[in-house]
Amino acid sequence: GNASRLQTIYQITNRETIAVDTPEPLSKIWASDVFNLAKMEESLSKNAFKAVKKTVQTGVELDPAVADMVAAAMKEWALTKNVKFYSHIFFPMTNITAEKHDGFIVSDADGNAITEFTGSLLIKGEPDGSSFPNGSIRTTNAARGYTAWDPTSPAYIMQTDNGSTLMIPSVFMSWTGEALDKKIPLLRSNHAMNKAAQKVLSLMGETEIATLNSSCGAEQEYFLVDSNFANSRPDLLLAGRTLFGAPPAKGQEFDDHYFGSIPMRVQVFMQEFEDKLYKLGIPAKTHHNEVAPGQFEIAPYFESANIAADHQQLMMTLMKKVAKKHGFLCLLHEKPFAGINGSGKHVNWSVGNATQGNLLDPGDTPHDNLNFLLFCGAVIRGVEKFGPLLRAVIASASNDHRLGANEAPPAILSVYLGDQLEKVFQDIKDGKIATSAKGGLMDLGLSQILKFERDPGDRNRTSPFAFTGNRFEFRAVGSSQSVSGPLVAMNTMLADSLNWIADKLEAEFAKGSDKAGASIAVLKELMETYGNVVFGGDGYSSEWHEMAVKERGLKNIPNTADALPELLEEPVKQLFASTGVLSPVELKSRYDVYAEQYILSIQVEAKLVVDMAKTMIYPAAMNYLSELATVNSKMTEMGIELDSSVAEKVAVESNAMMAAVAKLSTAIQKHDFASIEEHMQFCANDIRGIMDDVRVHADTLEVEVADDLWPLPKYQEMLFIK
Ligand code: ADP
Ligand code: MG
Repeated sequence: GNASRLQTIYQITNRETIAVDTPEPLSKIWASDVFNLAKMEESLSKNAFKAVKKTVQTGVELDPAVADMVAAAMKEWALTKNVKFYSHIFFPMTNITAEKHDGFIVSDADGNAITEFTGSLLIKGEPDGSSFPNGSIRTTNAARGYTAWDPTSPAYIMQTDNGSTLMIPSVFMSWTGEALDKKIPLLRSNHAMNKAAQKVLSLMGETEIATLNSSCGAEQEYFLVDSNFANSRPDLLLAGRTLFGAPPAKGQEFDDHYFGSIPMRVQVFMQEFEDKLYKLGIPAKTHHNEVAPGQFEIAPYFESANIAADHQQLMMTLMKKVAKKHGFLCLLHEKPFAGINGSGKHVNWSVGNATQGNLLDPGDTPHDNLNFLLFCGAVIRGVEKFGPLLRAVIASASNDHRLGANEAPPAILSVYLGDQLEKVFQDIKDGKIATSAKGGLMDLGLSQILKFERDPGDRNRTSPFAFTGNRFEFRAVGSSQSVSGPLVAMNTMLADSLNWIADKLEAEFAKGSDKAGASIAVLKELMETYGNVVFGGDGYSSEWHEMAVKERGLKNIPNTADALPELLEEPVKQLFASTGVLSPVELKSRYDVYAEQYILSIQVEAKLVVDMAKTMIYPAAMNYLSELATVNSKMTEMGIELDSSVAEKVAVESNAMMAAVAKLSTAIQKHDFASIEEHMQFCANDIRGIMDDVRVHADTLEVEVADDLWPLPKYQEMLFIK
């Protein structure tokens, strides 16, 4: 143990710097590997291009004849870039991406290699779906599924050092038409939101209303650990987090890492990574150090939700790959190091279109202000009514370590509006903003107020769901999660609320109210019924935890075992069924997959704890005891009395650790559960508890046992040596 750990440190500090290509100008590399509209325009006939463009912009189905032309153009373009393979890329219900590569090659009768890529190959692929989790969707076709091209997300080339592949973003569904992926519900949720938003906007007198779409800008936090360290930590390699490790003498208490200068090696990594993103048309915009040592953030500029979700997924894959090349393990886990800040993914979300703009932007006229208030109100109602759903879509074994800890949003879903906007809604609720005196639209001056509000210094960082000037920011999302689940939940709850608002507006208009009067009346009722979810105070405080539950009637759901069953509650089922986003069968299948993943990931961790405690930590402790025993008996021979308290402590802790390990081994074996809910509860309450117990003793041993005997890289080494 000792030699290898110290050798590791030596190797890292003497690492040779990694050679990187000279950076190329942005204008040259931007989207160079993307078959986007501009490239289609160059290579397609006018009519074919017009048809594709319409599909891309509105989602209408593509004529198969045009698909053939697109396929041919796509192949030609790919061949000029030396691409020999293509793959549909899709997003199963896990947080990963899946690919199946096929060559363009076919050989003719004379044995010559020719290439083939037709519209039907472009449109449809058939991976063997049976090995992807599909929950309760087990059709007679052995749960096989097929992939289908999503023309609204552009194809691109994934470059590797010795070859490259044309990647075709796709949906993944069963033969019976059920969604088996994360993309289909996202597309459907956009559709439902658009439909409901159209209703509200036309009731508000808008005449020309372009298709509405949701936008997403995701801020990704992550850790980098030298791969030499990672390779000697089975827990980091297999579970993505440390299952053992005593707190370092210095952690993050000095706040000296946040926005500090970026270490050279990391900077080199970021540059290469971002150039790769630019080639793929992903607009990397900001990067900086995060709060914890070894923690960083990257945020691309926001894009339409469907494309942002694909890009986000691609980004996670790429950052791990590029980090590896630079000798780092990139950790996307929500809590890689106990006691050190975890990683989240802030999902910035707004909805808008080409004619009305961003509906979550107050705009410059009183009329815009009213639209804004209605959409903002719709979000408030959505979070109140579907808070448990929002909690469920971010539930995972890893995110449980972060939520509710005093560094991350609480597990209670509330909405932060900022002082001024909160006051506007409070005034509406209190009847202080009735209708305008002269019958016209009142000027709430929101654009002025909120421009002021946008000052970042004024933001409440303790809220899980915050208005930030022209968008909402869902901050409780975990760093390893796909953004699709949260986007689906937000779009769908918004659709439901906008439908509710449309009905109420109609009733008001029937009574003869004008637009301002009707809007304010509807918003008043909305705030009376759902306004309790608005909270501007300290979300970390114990007062809020108590008040939220007792006075506001909000749910505090600290773990996944309690959160996931919310997906099966009647209001959630109805929400998804009525909007056409997920059928009850599809919803149930998602629940099954997520529950299974939760159980599996805790089981993997529990096995690792047993393994590492038995084969790494216990032997180190025994070696140390043996050293102490030897020296002790020699000293006694010499007539010198040594204090035996250290040896006693190591012996006692070792015994206690192994007793907990035995308990954990037994717990892992337990399989007779009446239901998957019961199994999840067992994981949350029993297995996790015993794992913590093992850790307490192991971490105590770490600070007792001689440093040169300790086999696992320590926290201060992994966090501070770069
Ligand atoms: P901060 O860390 O202050 O929250 P960042 O600049 O790191 O801000 O990230 C904000 C994210 O929000 C970026 O991805 C940005 O493009 C995105 N964003 C900005 N405006 C909108 C909007 N209207 N809709 C969706 N996302 C947006
Ligand atoms: Mg943010």
